Amino acid sequence: MHLSKFPRLHIAHLPTPLEPLKRLSTELGGPNIWIKRDDCTGLAGGGNKTRKLEFLLADALEKGADIILTQGAVQSNHVRQTAAIAAKLGLACHVLLEHRIEDPDTDYRLNGNVMLDGLFGATIDYRPAGGDMNAELDSLADQLRADGRKPYAIPGGGSNEIGALGYADAALELLYQARNMDLKIDRVVHATGSAGTQAGLVAGLEATNSGVPVLGIGVRAPQEKQEANVLKLAQSTFRLLTDKEGVEASDVNANCNYVGPGYGLPTDSMVEAINMLAKLEGILLDPVYSGKGMAGLIDLIRQGALSSDENIVFIHTGGAQALPAYRSLFSAS
Ligand SMILES: *Cc1c(COP(=O)(O)O)cnc(C)c1O
Repeated sequence: MHLSKFPRLHIAHLPTPLEPLKRLSTELGGPNIWIKRDDCTGLAGGGNKTRKLEFLLADALEKGADIILTQGAVQSNHVRQTAAIAAKLGLACHVLLEHRIEDPDTDYRLNGNVMLDGLFGATIDYRPAGGDMNAELDSLADQLRADGRKPYAIPGGGSNEIGALGYADAALELLYQARNMDLKIDRVVHATGSAGTQAGLVAGLEATNSGVPVLGIGVRAPQEKQEANVLKLAQSTFRLLTDKEGVEASDVNANCNYVGPGYGLPTDSMVEAINMLAKLEGILLDPVYSGKGMAGLIDLIRQGALSSDENIVFIHTGGAQALPAYRSLFSAS
C-alpha cells in the first residue's frame, strides 16, 4: 500500500488524538475504551469527512474544477465540511439537501449544520425525501457543464474509493499511534452511514495485515444492505490501493440494531449516550451518528458481548455541530 501516489491536500489537523475514556470505562465495568478524536480534524469544527475531502478535493483541483457539488440530509456534516473546504480553496460550492426527515422543527430546518453551510458561502437547493440524490447531483452537473462551468460532484458522504483513501490513511495513523503507546487494539468501533469510513478502515487494516477487526454501528440501512455497501467499497478501495483483491465478506461487520425509527430520528439510547459522554468525559457526541454508535457500544458492553480484557477504540467521527438542531432533546431546564 503506497498512499503517497494519490494526490492529497493537507488541511486536516492530524494525527487526531487517541485518548483513554477512563470514567466511561469504569462506569461500564467492561473493556478499556479509547477514543480516536476525529471530531478534532480542525476544518469547520471537525469530523470524519475532512479526511476524505483531502483526497477528493486534490482530485477536483487536478481536474480543473471551478465548482464543487455535493448532497446530503439537511443536517449533513459532510455538506458542512465540503462547503468549508471549498471556501478555503476559493471554489464555488453548490449543495443539494434532502428533506429526509418528516415534519422537522425550526431548529432542525435552520440551525446547526445547515446554518453553517450558508455561513461558508454554499448555494443551497432542497429536494424532497426519497429521491435518487446522486442522480440529482449528476443532472445539476450536466446543467452546469452546459453553462461552461467545470463541476466536480462528490457523492453523499464523500463515499467513493477516492474519499475512502482518507480512512485507509487513518488506519495507518491509528496503528502507528497505538504502537507508540504500547496499546494492543482488539477492536475498532464507529458509526457507519454512507460506508466510506468503514470501507477505508477495513481496506487499510487489511492491507497492513493488522488483524484488527472493525465493527460499524449502522445509522440508516438494515444490516445486510449496510454490510453489502461497505464490502463493495472496501474491495474497490483495496484494489485501488494495492492492485490486488483482498477484502472478504467476513472482514465487514455492521450492527444495525441501534437505528431506532430511522435516520436522524432520536432514540433513548442515543440521548443517554450523549449525556454519558458529556457528563463523564466532557466530550460532545452527535444525535445522528456518533451518539447512536456510542449507544451501540455501551449496549454491547452491558450485554457482555465484548470481553472485559479488550482494548476498544471508538472513532469519534464528529457531528456535534448538529446538536443545536436537536435542541429540544437536550435543553437545560
Ligand atoms: C458521515 C458521518 C459518519 C458516517 O461515516 P460514513 O463514511 O458516511 O459511513 C459518522 N459520523 C458522523 C458524525 C458523520 O458525519
